[in-house]
Amino acid sequence: MRVLSILAACSLAAALPAAAQRPSLSNSARAFVAVDAPVVALTHARLVDGTGAPARDDQTILISGDKITAVGKTGSVSVPADARTVDLTGRTVIPGLVGLHDHMYYSSPVSGTMKFMPVSYPRLFLANGITTIRTTGSVDPYQEMNIKALIAGGQMVGPEIVVTGPYLQGAPNQLVTMHPIANPDEARRIVRYWSEEGVPWFKAYTTISRDQLGAAIDEAHKHGVKVTAHLCSVTYREAVALGIDHLEHGVFANTDYAKGKQADRCPSSGMDSVYAALDVNSPEVRQTIDEMVKHHVGLTSTLAVYELSSPSRVPVDQRVLDALYPDVSKWVSDYYTKGRTANDSLWQRAMKKGMEFERAFVRAGGLLGAGADPCCISAIAGYADQRNYELLVEAGFTPEQAIQIMSANGAKVLGFGDRLGTIAPGKQADLVVVRGDPTRTPSDIRNVETVFRQGIGYDSAKLVASVKGMVGIK
Ligand SMILES: [Zn+2]
Repeated sequence: MRVLSILAACSLAAALPAAAQRPSLSNSARAFVAVDAPVVALTHARLVDGTGAPARDDQTILISGDKITAVGKTGSVSVPADARTVDLTGRTVIPGLVGLHDHMYYSSPVSGTMKFMPVSYPRLFLANGITTIRTTGSVDPYQEMNIKALIAGGQMVGPEIVVTGPYLQGAPNQLVTMHPIANPDEARRIVRYWSEEGVPWFKAYTTISRDQLGAAIDEAHKHGVKVTAHLCSVTYREAVALGIDHLEHGVFANTDYAKGKQADRCPSSGMDSVYAALDVNSPEVRQTIDEMVKHHVGLTSTLAVYELSSPSRVPVDQRVLDALYPDVSKWVSDYYTKGRTANDSLWQRAMKKGMEFERAFVRAGGLLGAGADPCCISAIAGYADQRNYELLVEAGFTPEQAIQIMSANGAKVLGFGDRLGTIAPGKQADLVVVRGDPTRTPSDIRNVETVFRQGIGYDSAKLVASVKGMVGIK
């Protein structure tokens, strides 16, 4: 029934112009607003601007309407007399984060299959500083479109949503949320339909064949639509040769290095030992990276979700336990407890190699973004994005680079680089106020206080409180 109420409200939203104007917020949306004024001056902030440049202290950011109009040392930026001034001493401001693999579903370990989270996820993304998401594999594209329109129209709060078509899966298929494509013509038909419905991206999945994937990419490109993939049956180099636009999951979906792999089939044994033993400087790994860079194929880092395979290193996050529905929370609490003594050294090594691969990809000139993949266990909306930041810093990126990967690079992948991703005059005023300094203490990224989207500041704590116990059911 919640779906019906969302759809009923949506006819209003769908009539609104698509341009990124500040919405006029409904009363229920307005309840989450902390700052809303025609001109806002954020003063005395430490600033990480998203370009990769070193953090700067004591900055003032001036916002007018939905735009950033000035950025500079406090005192050097003239603040209009009527501005609402917010003193951010002791705070750091980062750009609104762009989650490139930020699903709208969660697979409850208790109840099973991939369930849409129309209430909890939009609020959790926004509360944790993720102001734009690409859903990157949808179990319900129409629901995503409707929620996107409700957010754009101000009836709901959440990130800007880049909707993705239904998973392009082949056979065999074990997931009831996916349709197994039988042949290339069918791949074309599905891509054509959803492209005409307006989805700008597709994600291909683990058992698609090369001819199906090639047909899907060709059809998508005819419609100006892009394709990314979580691969297995097709290798990264094969997908690059077929003209794919982007790839998901760092190295962890790459079967280029599987010995004895049959064409169009997933390797018969698990890839964990292959990744754990990977030589990132070997010619075969160089070749994958070089071909991706040469063909401008970007990559999404999803370290947080792969960390779940090394439970002994997953930090216990009480915020996650609080957000989950009680039965699910109990399950995840047990997962944390058992994880403390898990023998997961193989995956610990694989994680290190995954981190090295991402560093090598960026060093070679590759465009790396990041996403939560908030699909499972303790990887849920917003919190998994923040864990990615900590893991990217652990991987050896500077904190400023890690922010750039999670903001400017994501915006670039989506074609929004002119509008989003950095804190500079002329950009949309999407920015995140965090207590402390995540460039010195990475976990400070978790201390989000206020999230600005289109110049409106939302109260993170109120958003989080409003979805307590909901993740796993709605
Ligand atoms: Zn995913």
